[in-house]
Amino acid sequence: MLDKRDLQKCIHCGLCLQACPTYVATGQEAESPRGRIYLMRQAYEGRIDWAQARPHIDACMGCLGCQTACPSGVPYAKLIEAARAEVETHARTPFQRFMRKQAIGNFTNPARLRALLRLAGSLGFQRMPRWMARALGASESAVALPKLPPQVWRPTQTVYPAKSTPRARVGLLLGCAMRVLFDRVHRATIGMLTLAGYEVHVPPNQGCCGALWVHNGYPREAQRTAKRLFRAFREMDYIAVNAAGCGSTMKEYGLLFKDAPEQAAAEAFAKRVRDIHELLADADLPPPKRDDSLHITYHDACHLVHGQGIREQPRALLKRLPNLKLTEMDGADMCCGSAGIYNLLQPKLARDALQRKIRNIQATGATIVASANPGCTLWLRQGLQEAGLPVEVLHPVEILAKAYDAMP
Ligand code: SF4
Ligand code: SF4
Repeated sequence: MLDKRDLQKCIHCGLCLQACPTYVATGQEAESPRGRIYLMRQAYEGRIDWAQARPHIDACMGCLGCQTACPSGVPYAKLIEAARAEVETHARTPFQRFMRKQAIGNFTNPARLRALLRLAGSLGFQRMPRWMARALGASESAVALPKLPPQVWRPTQTVYPAKSTPRARVGLLLGCAMRVLFDRVHRATIGMLTLAGYEVHVPPNQGCCGALWVHNGYPREAQRTAKRLFRAFREMDYIAVNAAGCGSTMKEYGLLFKDAPEQAAAEAFAKRVRDIHELLADADLPPPKRDDSLHITYHDACHLVHGQGIREQPRALLKRLPNLKLTEMDGADMCCGSAGIYNLLQPKLARDALQRKIRNIQATGATIVASANPGCTLWLRQGLQEAGLPVEVLHPVEILAKAYDAMP
């Protein structure tokens, strides 16, 4: 629920405006954080309908660049999630709600996601059909459908022993898109964690973290799926996450369950959640085994840098590799436009953000982009391919696992 005290924290200074990709693209106040907070307050006080605020709430990437930039401590993540829940309840038709819930339900169910991608591939679809994009409220279908890896990876063990005296038991979150499309990242994560002295568990009965649900205005559905994780990871010292959006949501479970009977359990769970870079940065790693010459630029996934404040650790880990050159791009911490399912729903603004990002990547001359979120990785790969640039996009942990010869 929107909290008036949070809305009142905005002092209209405008220091967040240049950090906002939708304001930078449009120059319009209503597409800025300050404008959106004003609209939320108007709707909250009943001066306008949520339907009037809806286009501008929908156009927000939820990237939280404004939250980092704000000197007044406006909790924008909390505000936009609450505003989105109001929009879903008061400013969508039952058909729109149904379609959106179907889409999120498909993306957050690995078996269904895999089956749909397989079906789309066998029918030769390159993109989501236009009628489906329209039914979701998008003007066009901008996102290329990803190809499934040739083989389905399943963990061969439920426990991977530490390669030195175990320092802690860590449960690995498999996630939804990560499990279906990025098995290499999971294998690299297991390899690096065991090398760093963690005993890695892969609990079989885990589900979705709820990030897509909560980011799109469905907190009840997010709670339902989060509860499965409480059970699956109850024995673990830490829960390791290698997808920025999932980790950011899981660290905020206390807020998701505020005033619910599970609040204390949710807060205790959230305290054990660690991004993979945090776990590795805190551990003693042996020297890397390979010294391949690499030229890398690092893209800050929004929910890592703005959602979790993780900026230095991935860079510091990469800089341990002896022959690695890291060239910073302009706007490394500006959203690429992927933003969960934003690029499906808001293709024009998403493309604008992508094109800016691709120009900045190209200017570095790097041949690898390191990116720690599945949505960003797919969207950047698409943008680079469309621009004809021979640049790979890899998760930092994949780069590390290769250099440390740690892939199981
Ligand atoms: S979350 Fe991102 S897109 Fe939304 S208002 Fe803040 S900076 Fe702008
Ligand atoms: S959100 Fe923060 S930075 Fe932006 S106008 Fe309000 S107080 Fe200023």
